[in-house]
Amino acid sequence: MKSLLTSLLALMLISLHSCNVEVDTTSGETKAQTVEITLLQLNDVYEMTAVSSGTRGGLARVQTLLKSLKEENPNTFSVLAGDLYSPSVIGNAEVNGKRLAGQQMVNVLNAMQWDFFTIGNHEFDIPEEDFRERLKESEFKNITDNVSDSVGKPFDNTMPAQIIDVEGVKMGILGITMDNFNQDFATITPPLEAARKAVKQLQEQKADIIIAMTHQSLEDDIALARQVPEINLILGGHEHDNFKLLRNDEQTPITKADANSKSAFVHYLTFNKDSGTLSQRSEIILIDETIEKDIEIERLAKAWEGKAYEYYTAAGYEPDQVVCKVNVTLDGTEASVRSQSTNLTDLLTQGFIDAFPDQAKAGIMNGGSIRLDDKINPKNLSDCPVTQYEIMKISPFGGSVSLVEMRGDILMEALNQGAKNTGKGSFLQYSGISQKDGQWLLQGAPIDNNTRYKIAISSYLVEKGDQGLKFLVYENSRGRVKKVEGAPKPEFNKVAISAFERAFPGS
Ligand SMILES: [Zn+2]
Repeated sequence: MKSLLTSLLALMLISLHSCNVEVDTTSGETKAQTVEITLLQLNDVYEMTAVSSGTRGGLARVQTLLKSLKEENPNTFSVLAGDLYSPSVIGNAEVNGKRLAGQQMVNVLNAMQWDFFTIGNHEFDIPEEDFRERLKESEFKNITDNVSDSVGKPFDNTMPAQIIDVEGVKMGILGITMDNFNQDFATITPPLEAARKAVKQLQEQKADIIIAMTHQSLEDDIALARQVPEINLILGGHEHDNFKLLRNDEQTPITKADANSKSAFVHYLTFNKDSGTLSQRSEIILIDETIEKDIEIERLAKAWEGKAYEYYTAAGYEPDQVVCKVNVTLDGTEASVRSQSTNLTDLLTQGFIDAFPDQAKAGIMNGGSIRLDDKINPKNLSDCPVTQYEIMKISPFGGSVSLVEMRGDILMEALNQGAKNTGKGSFLQYSGISQKDGQWLLQGAPIDNNTRYKIAISSYLVEKGDQGLKFLVYENSRGRVKKVEGAPKPEFNKVAISAFERAFPGS
């Protein structure tokens, strides 16, 4: 009985809080003047469970925050601005012979009763069939105003900009996706035009507020804010570091949270129905150990993780096994690994060389294959245990390492191009190679144009090829890059685990 009373009381408090009620003393009638809406924003979420050695993120913590916001104000909506299905170690695992490909993420968001999602570029990492299934499985609204199938037909269970009625206030919400990346099964129309059209439609439907969910570069978000000023708030994704742009009262705020729910943005909107004006305030909330994990969501996420573990165990890994204890912070953040060498990239490329003892003279990988976007041992503990699973998260695409024979001229061409690719995934990381007075050295000696060197390299670079480096692919190299016959081709994850063991022995 007591609990019923408490909940009744709580309900009354909630309704009082969510809408300021003014009592008209002459008629005795009440009339709502302002309506409050809360939006919780995430973007770029690849991992369901906590990251940074468990200290940050995790959808179970986000759910606790979401529940408390809903308690404060039932007019609370959750928004995810793209990049959800891929990449992740769990997503690459097979269950019943089928790759999960983001099924785990959609399932957990469904359990959280998520509200809105728009499509990010990483949604296209997975095959079309899986992409379509993920959209169909979603119980949240997949809003897109510029993504359709190869013949321009909307994908099932996607919808264009929507109007949500919140106590008589019409909140319009649209979704757009960047169009400047490679994908092969969808039509993506120019985002700016699509947003303009969506805004027009929302205005025709008398929208009071217009929210844009976007997945594109900050530059493009700024252009959108400038060119379509009718938008009240841009909830963006794609950049992985939190960002808030509030140039002045007249201009549209643009916000992005940190990837992997290391933070969330909370937006408090107050709409005055009489004056038709909107006031808003945005706050970034760190998702850290101070927020308790929601039990149900944590259990669900762990169950998916367990399924992935089973798969990797069958593939010869022991995900839970502690490989070593590290005594430094290892930097695998995207901003670093795409522009400079770090202690983590050095450890990995040295591991490439060690995988082919007495053979490989250098190890080369593309920075973009490191998708961790995080630090290992962020608190710089003197004995931070690192499990196989954590090492596997460094490069969720997996892949392998090949031993090749490379002629000096093409090796230097690749190194020069790799250095030019600063900021991109095709920025090259290496060990065994250095540069002195503008000259490339291998094991300290100048590289000769016509000599063939044995190099351990990401198989991806010589089989598929990366941006600006396609000339390294066997068939394109005019015989200057050759596979060393009979050499093993170890999995990247195995090489990385050995590299950690070697770098932090005796632990
Ligand atoms: Zn993205």
